Amino acid sequence: MSNNLLLTPIEYLKGVGPTRGGLLRKELGIHKYGDLIQLYPNRYIDRTRYYKINELQDSAAEVQIVGKITHIKTVEFGKGKKRLVATFVDATGQMELVWFQGQKWVRESLKINEISVVFGKCSSFNGIYSIAHPEIELLTEHQTSLRSAMQAVYPSTETLANRGVSNRVINKIMQQLFQETQALFTETLPDYLLQELKLISKKDALLQIHFPKSSTALAQAQYRLKFEELFFIQLQLITKNLIQKHKIKGHPFAVVGTFFNGFYQHHLPFELTGAQKRVIKEIRTDMGSNAQMNRLLQGDVGSGKTIVAFMTMLLALDNGFQACLMAPTEILANQHFIGLSELAQKLDLNIKLLTGSSKIAARRTIQEELENGSLQILIGTHALLEDKVKFQNLGLAVIDEQHRFGVEQRSKLWKKNSIPPHVLVMTATPIPRTLAMSLYGDLDISVIDELPPGRKPIQTVHRFDSNRLKVWKFIRDQIAIGRQIYIVYPLIQESEKMDYKDLMDGYESISRDFPLPQYAISILHGKMKPADKDAEMKRFAEGKTNIMVATTVIEVGVNVPNASVMVIESAERFGLSQLHQLRGRVGRGADQSYCILMTSFKLSNDSKTRMETMVGTNDGFEIAEVDLKLRGPGNLMGTQQSGVLHLQIADIVKDKDILALARNHAMKILKEDAPLQKPEHAGMRAVYLELTKKKNIWNYIS
Ligand code: ADP
Ligand code: MG
Repeated sequence: MSNNLLLTPIEYLKGVGPTRGGLLRKELGIHKYGDLIQLYPNRYIDRTRYYKINELQDSAAEVQIVGKITHIKTVEFGKGKKRLVATFVDATGQMELVWFQGQKWVRESLKINEISVVFGKCSSFNGIYSIAHPEIELLTEHQTSLRSAMQAVYPSTETLANRGVSNRVINKIMQQLFQETQALFTETLPDYLLQELKLISKKDALLQIHFPKSSTALAQAQYRLKFEELFFIQLQLITKNLIQKHKIKGHPFAVVGTFFNGFYQHHLPFELTGAQKRVIKEIRTDMGSNAQMNRLLQGDVGSGKTIVAFMTMLLALDNGFQACLMAPTEILANQHFIGLSELAQKLDLNIKLLTGSSKIAARRTIQEELENGSLQILIGTHALLEDKVKFQNLGLAVIDEQHRFGVEQRSKLWKKNSIPPHVLVMTATPIPRTLAMSLYGDLDISVIDELPPGRKPIQTVHRFDSNRLKVWKFIRDQIAIGRQIYIVYPLIQESEKMDYKDLMDGYESISRDFPLPQYAISILHGKMKPADKDAEMKRFAEGKTNIMVATTVIEVGVNVPNASVMVIESAERFGLSQLHQLRGRVGRGADQSYCILMTSFKLSNDSKTRMETMVGTNDGFEIAEVDLKLRGPGNLMGTQQSGVLHLQIADIVKDKDILALARNHAMKILKEDAPLQKPEHAGMRAVYLELTKKKNIWNYIS
């Protein structure tokens, strides 16, 4: 749609003018003809059916009635408040039409005793039916306009409705737009694609989406427009990836040297799983080429991503580069540091930790050693991103739990070197593959889809608060055989104070039920100082305490293999992926582990589904699919920070088959004609250029 007519400012359209034009701009973001065309209806209503007044029911349904206005009056109600009331009659009875806004304008436009058609939501009060702010037109007018069994209902706002820009007005100006422009909607997809996929033309699709002649025609129009929308997004994402591959030179890690090989042969603490080996190979190949690596490593909680990250770092070291690993919390950074130091010691590596609570002297040493190259691996939090932190030659940046960091932070790491380092982002949030591709289309993806051997599946149960005595007994038995327990309370930002109180109340009552000296309890929450958090975490990790009472600060990555029971309080307040993350804290050792979901008795349907899903499966991908269905992609954990696609018509969840199809075709076309220079791709190229000119793809993913 690149022709000039569609760039015409909206107020030039007959029936719009400056006032309505201003409203459309402000309320719906419609500036030009082309924007109006893309105002797709929310739904459709049946305008072929006419009701008699004595058929009306109190159902708040939209009805259409033929009759006439016999009488108009203004009624005062309350102080200075007025409403305009018209009596509307047909052969079977009478009802009221009511206006609260724009009364002067409405009153002037109403015609008494002329056969008219009214349309709107019907309600009843004291036995009298009424329609507030109805659409109304003379029968003669009504008969000449495009009516169909499916009349479009457009997105609107209160201001628009109050200022007289009703759905009927939008319908009218839409008709006007079609009259003025119809012949000019250029095709954007190549002919062969339309034929292969049996898609209707752009022109027909636009006509049928606004004025469908049948439900079949509407379905075809929706399909075509959804495909087109997803197709062009994929085209941009894939192109971006291709350009990156060609243009962005990376450090070619040519050798696999003594660090990697020595570790692999002599110091591996366990046999790698097949999936870990495969993923390491994928990474090695990628980093060995001339292009910069940008890879997403997905693996369920406990699948063993850390060792993969470590061995990837060894490859960087083998090639004479430094490596860093960034984690979202101090606890997690600490834990990575402790775990990786143990491995690094065996190879005599210099590895250090940098977080917000690092002391000035330690910082100074780190900065020095980073710049002179003697520090080989740096682990840390956001603190790594500070400008003062300069590497001599950073070859690899690993980011753990990617969803906690935004796109911006990723690119900040890039800029730490003149040649950007290879980037490996790791996430335990299983994002369904199609969605991952559409959100992170610029990343390559590796998946660890296998757990280390010998893990017993975690047994999950759902218990009501009324079963607490039994749950506590179970916990005592587990502690008696030497296990440790997590008890987690929700922490949801909006009600932080209340959550904190819940946590403290919980802690007190647990302390009473599990008294000293027989039991020792740790507590961990966001308000504690980092040093205190570490100390508590350490006591628990060393087995000095039996129970860890915590908020969701422990959600990410914490690893205490002897902890075998996870109790989640008010589990109904957690989302599915969070529940799954929390559960992943247990089941890390050889013992049978348990997850107990505590909820109140009254649960919403969604909450029930969440509990059932957790009890039914340990498979993160399965859980992610349910999560996606329940909440839509906007709330999916992995996408919270990076946002979701802002789509006009397609729905990433419901239309994931169309998405996959669009992606495949975009890929195929780019493979054959990456610059889109073939004549049959001219229409496509025009749209593509306009899109890239106008929008950075990240605008879709804001
Ligand atoms: P995550 O993928 O959740 O980050 P980790 O890397 O923390 O998982 O690994 C979880 C646990 O599994 C750790 O204790 C780790 O040492 C262990 N582990 C990882 N890979 C293997 C393996 N191939 N065989 C046995 N244990 C493994
Ligand atoms: Mg981890």
